[in-house]
Amino acid sequence: MTATLLDGLALSKIVREDLKKRVDALRAKGIVPRLDVVVAAQDPASLAYVRMKRKWAEAAGMLGEAYEITEATSQAELLDLLHKLNANPSVHGVLLQHPLPKHLDEDEALLALGPEKDVDGITPQSLGRLVADLPGFRCATPLGITKILDHYKIDCTGKQAVVIGRSVILGKPMALMLLQKNATVTVAHSKTVNLPDLCRTADILVAAVGRAEMVKGDWIKPGAVVIDAGYNKVEGRKFDVGDVEFESAALVASAITPVPGGVGPMTVASLLANCVEAAELKVAE
Ligand code: NAP
Repeated sequence: MTATLLDGLALSKIVREDLKKRVDALRAKGIVPRLDVVVAAQDPASLAYVRMKRKWAEAAGMLGEAYEITEATSQAELLDLLHKLNANPSVHGVLLQHPLPKHLDEDEALLALGPEKDVDGITPQSLGRLVADLPGFRCATPLGITKILDHYKIDCTGKQAVVIGRSVILGKPMALMLLQKNATVTVAHSKTVNLPDLCRTADILVAAVGRAEMVKGDWIKPGAVVIDAGYNKVEGRKFDVGDVEFESAALVASAITPVPGGVGPMTVASLLANCVEAAELKVAE
């Protein structure tokens, strides 16, 4: 079997074209969606992600400011910035790019961010809304994955889903979103015993681990749908690699996301979509 490629980059283009139309409609009403970003100045990977997000936001007609946080920024200054962004009506979304410099308390910063501006869906308020099935912004990466599943008409109802990883921004919200899609969900982590056998039970396997090519083809149930959220830098490899060994997995799975070009672009598109929705909700108030 050779798996269908779940092309997140192509889907993100469709989403971004639709976003541009929604932004044009908002602009016609005098509203320009604005996504501001708070990012660690000393983290080249974060700065690169932020540049890409900004490029796509600008292409969609959106605005945005970036605030670079340094070793000299105090917790009080960070909280003050977040309070100002909360209070600024022309800012529709705020992204607190992880990781912040180590001397800062990221949990406290997330609590300070207003849920109506948390377009990355990672504050405790937003996550609580997800748990409670209440409306709110959903975490961009798992949200992007659900968009891929929807676009390719992958029905989760009654399916066994295994999510590898239990992080607050990815594994846990992913499990909840799959549960909302009526899958029977198991969450695996570093203490899970016999992970390969557990993975072999999965009709839908989501890898969100952060270990290059950990999931091998023989861990995969024939015909399973494989979603690879990982991106890992590997010395000597030009592109980041996923948590799944693509070549062997693609021979067994019925469908699989590539890395790059799978989950990553849909994460950014979902973040921007949440911000445009935040602006639309303001207009509707
Ligand atoms: P994280 O916070 O480091 O969490 C990793 C999870 O994997 C943890 O729950 C950990 O278990 C589990 N784990 C680690 N080693 C394991 C092993 N040997 N067997 C089973 N489980 C294991 O990472 P994250 O932020 O969720 O990110 C995961 C991956 O997704 C990374 O590659 C990251 O770069 C990528 N990512 C991609 C996007 C995107 O837009 N595509 C966005 C965010 C993250 P414990 O809880 O027991 O430690």
